[in-house]
Amino acid sequence: MSTIAERLDHVRATLPEGVTLVAVSKFHPAEAIAEAYAAGQRCFGESRAAELTAKAAALPADICWHFIGHLQTNKVRPVVAVASLIHSIDSERLLRAVDTEARRAGRRADILLQLHVAREETKFGFTPAELTGLVASGILEELTGVRVRGVMGMASNVDDEERIAADFTEIASAFRTLKESYFASDSTFDTISMGMSHDYPLAVSLGATMVRVGSYIFGDRG
Ligand SMILES: *Cc1c(COP(=O)(O)O)cnc(C)c1O
Repeated sequence: MSTIAERLDHVRATLPEGVTLVAVSKFHPAEAIAEAYAAGQRCFGESRAAELTAKAAALPADICWHFIGHLQTNKVRPVVAVASLIHSIDSERLLRAVDTEARRAGRRADILLQLHVAREETKFGFTPAELTGLVASGILEELTGVRVRGVMGMASNVDDEERIAADFTEIASAFRTLKESYFASDSTFDTISMGMSHDYPLAVSLGATMVRVGSYIFGDRG
């Protein structure tokens, strides 16, 4: 059996420079994160507010925590307090709630807008057209508590590589459309978060600048 450190090394060795690895530690204990930390990993992804808060309190302060799960508006406060990037802004209501909380806390929250391109019906997020409409509405100019760093998305959960590639292409293309139309002069709009354990190499080849890899590094979540 390989170790967490060995699997981390493998993932890092396959990522081009400039692609950030978020090690998705959700449902794994703090000891597993400490092992990855000892191997040099600093960015970790969590999907539940309570778990994020507990782990952040127990682990070193220089970890950057990424929130990647569906976020309910009543859990915004603890997540804004701890997360360095929230990947999963999937509605205007949540966007406004994060903005309000960040301003209340005297902060600016870095966020990604979540796209829904996969075929599954239960996935959260904006369609590319909804996202363009939202940004075109000018809403971001009012929301001084958030800084939009880019987009996040997931490919369909299928074996068909062409389907997965088409989904990643759609996410990257939505990013480019937004970049050219609304963020051309904003160098902080720079992030395409896509790719998980089974599909991250394909995501990287199609433009991902950030990948979210969990089970490959930490094992099954049981
Ligand atoms: C759990 C999760 C991941 C990691 O998935 P793995 O298949 O374990 O690599 C990535 N992104 C999101 C949004 C997740 O919820």
